[in-house]
Amino acid sequence: MQAELISVGTELLLGQTLNTNVKFLSEQLAFLGINIYFHTTVGDNRERLRQALNIATGRADLIVLTGGLGPTEDDLTKETLAEFLQLPLEIVPAELEQLKTLFKKSDFKWTDNNAKQAAFIPSSCILKNEIGSAAGMALKKGKHGYIILPGPPREMTRMFLHYAQPWLKEKFQNELQGVLYSRVLKFMGITESGLEVLLEDLLQQQKEITLALYAKMGEIQLRITTRAKNEEDFAQKIAAVVKEIKGRTPRYLFAEDQVTLTEAVAQLLLKNKLTLSTAESCTGGMLAECLTTVSGSSEFYLGSIISYANSVKTQVLGVSSELLEEHGAVSQEVGSAMAQRIRALTGSDLGVGITGIAGPGGGTPEKPVGLVYIALATPDTTICNKYHFIGDREIIRRRSVFRAYYLIWEYLKNILDE
Ligand code: ATP
Ligand code: MG
Repeated sequence: MQAELISVGTELLLGQTLNTNVKFLSEQLAFLGINIYFHTTVGDNRERLRQALNIATGRADLIVLTGGLGPTEDDLTKETLAEFLQLPLEIVPAELEQLKTLFKKSDFKWTDNNAKQAAFIPSSCILKNEIGSAAGMALKKGKHGYIILPGPPREMTRMFLHYAQPWLKEKFQNELQGVLYSRVLKFMGITESGLEVLLEDLLQQQKEITLALYAKMGEIQLRITTRAKNEEDFAQKIAAVVKEIKGRTPRYLFAEDQVTLTEAVAQLLLKNKLTLSTAESCTGGMLAECLTTVSGSSEFYLGSIISYANSVKTQVLGVSSELLEEHGAVSQEVGSAMAQRIRALTGSDLGVGITGIAGPGGGTPEKPVGLVYIALATPDTTICNKYHFIGDREIIRRRSVFRAYYLIWEYLKNILDE
């Protein structure tokens, strides 16, 4: 079964409104096992909407429209669909009564143009709007299904989940072929192409189970998708491939599904009963900010010094000024010293130091923009890695934070494995 989504609204074409309805509906339809081959967006224009309907009807079985259901002149989705299908729109008395009652209950004054919200194609299914005035409509004509939903996302999602989805399941029960389930594995410390090489044969072999890699900021996600009867059936179907992937990527796989990097690191710190503190220069507290987004972080995170100026590095953090003069603030030596000093000052088990050049100014041939040192001081030793990040100031700072996370995660994972 193939579906096409038609979003109606000039504001979408002009970029004034982000089209979040297609995101929601695409996910929902995919979940029902319906293939979505096209997203169309069209302005509030009768002729162009008619063209869009014509094209969609030629290439899809199910057409879902959102927007343009309201009472005003430019709301013409229902009228245009009726015209296109050469079916009448008729006022449904019960719906009209309900609308009028709704207006009486609220402070809005009834105007006659609202009556068109009570007009539907005879034999269609009226989709109730529980939180707004414009009801939706669903109908089957020949092998085609048409669903009209309102534009406002809250009304649309509710109407879809409560009324459109059950209608679809009932009317297309023979066409729907099993629900799509997916699991996401999250990796870091490796590039998308690096992971692709590691998993090459699996990525090429895929048939019933599809594997797709996505690069996100700081992490790579692998989505494993297949049709299944239920969660249990799904887990069973993907067990072998998940085991194979995990076996090949123990150094990079840090979490699954909803679990974030911050949560994964937090869980490991808690499991190991270790505390952490941070000293940041070029990231200006971003790492501290991220670490404290999880509730319960006070159990492992002690605090931070944002030692941005050299004077703070020496006077507050206690890095020796000789070290700074000899090697410069952006150096292996100073990065390590920052991590050791914050650890000593706070009495934490682990200390992190970050120092680098985020740019766009301040780079030299020896120390270019993007050069960042990230150090981890532990009870036994201090590791300090040198990185060359590319990107603008924001990206360099964010990558530094992710790398710091990776350093902590790798260390914690190694102690767990020992
Ligand atoms: P109303 O009864 O409020 O007029 P409607 O069904 O006629 O509803 P529109 O007039 O097209 O819908 O849009 C109403 C609101 O919903 C607008 O704020 C619009 O920006 C928003 N909206 C419409 N379509 C989308 C979409 N695809 N994604 C996100 N928001 C949308
Ligand atoms: Mg409208």
